[in-house]
Amino acid sequence: MDDFYISAGSDHIKKERQKARELRKSQWWRQRLAQGVCYYCEEKFSPTDLTMDHVIPVSRGGKSSKGNVVVACKQCNTEKKHRTPVERLLDEEKRK
Ligand SMILES: [Zn+2]
Repeated sequence: MDDFYISAGSDHIKKERQKARELRKSQWWRQRLAQGVCYYCEEKFSPTDLTMDHVIPVSRGGKSSKGNVVVACKQCNTEKKHRTPVERLLDEEKRK
């Protein structure tokens, strides 16, 4: 279970950050922004209020692939920080 928390190496992080920059220029990403819906709170925002977010953070071994990259509003992105979806769910359970 500890394996899950191993941080990614700097090579991986560098490579995936570069891929994220390229993905931001893609038609696919522009369409996502044009739709303007935050993946987390499902509210609508203008493209300037949206950011690219990795569901599994790059620092945790996540990739800059279409399956791992979502549109998030600035607030959701800030609140999420570097937690994985599982950790976020656990936090939400604790708050209940
Ligand atoms: Zn949001």
